[in-house]
Amino acid sequence: MVDVEFVGRADEVVVDGLLVGVCGTDTEIVRDGFGEPPPGREELVLFHESLGRVVSAPADADVRAGDLVVGVVRRPDPAPCPACAAGAWDYCRNGRYLERGIKGLDGYGARRWSVPPGFAVRLDPALGDAGVLAEPASVVAKAWARGRRAWEEAHVAPRTALVTGAGPIGLLAALLGVRLGLEVHVVDRVADGPKPDLVRALGAHYHREVPDVAVDVAVECTGAPSVIWSVVRRSSVLVLAGLTGTHDPLPLDPAVFDGVVLGNKAVLGTVNAGLADYRAGAAALAEADRSWLAGLITRRVPLERFTDAFERRDDDVKVVVDLA
Ligand SMILES: [Zn+2]
Ligand SMILES: [Zn+2]
Repeated sequence: MVDVEFVGRADEVVVDGLLVGVCGTDTEIVRDGFGEPPPGREELVLFHESLGRVVSAPADADVRAGDLVVGVVRRPDPAPCPACAAGAWDYCRNGRYLERGIKGLDGYGARRWSVPPGFAVRLDPALGDAGVLAEPASVVAKAWARGRRAWEEAHVAPRTALVTGAGPIGLLAALLGVRLGLEVHVVDRVADGPKPDLVRALGAHYHREVPDVAVDVAVECTGAPSVIWSVVRRSSVLVLAGLTGTHDPLPLDPAVFDGVVLGNKAVLGTVNAGLADYRAGAAALAEADRSWLAGLITRRVPLERFTDAFERRDDDVKVVVDLA
């Protein structure tokens, strides 16, 4: 563990860190050396999924002392590229963006952190610990927003949705899908543990294999090539939110490819989230059932033992590190 002295800045929002969420990206940073420390340093403070309480904020900030907040992960590149120039840094074109806890900036795994005023998003105070789900919820909100633009363009009136993978991203995707009024089908390999019940508690359907039905929209969260192809075949609009993590070529089924062309289908990729997505994700969490959200946080590890958070256990959904 690195002790980094907190240096507050008068023009920033200063926050007491409460929790951080652990995800696959953090595991890759620790295990595979993915990630990039700030310039001139060899260590990186970990974690990008934050929850904290504002200690102080500049007068022009839209958060105030006492607010429950999530810190935004990405910062625009300095160039800036056309996307960053338009404030859409989540679509950065030149890759020179920075990310807290991932790329060139220390993360939120600290008892105190600060962000420029536009990079703290207020959460419903009633969310409590579930506010740590706000960052993954923002990623999911962006996936649905991208999907919505595609289905509106193609005159698809969505009724059914398929979500592949019942990790935190998949479960939150299912939550937002149900909230859109869709009949949601979730696929994951596990037969027991908390995931099937969490899916059913939403009023969604749980499957252990991709069901052989056509769906209007799909959110793919596994990155497993065989799953991706079977979902391309079945969906009118497909939003890819999972990485394959492989360098092996993926076989292409020509019939599936032709079906995409002839069906005016959309296959979109999505990563990260913009401010509007953070707000949409936070709004969805605020309206969600609190006990359902609490069920997503399956393990809580104190900061002193944060490395325990990287041990994968079968029943893990979202593991959090307690900073307090
Ligand atoms: Zn994450
Ligand atoms: Zn950019």
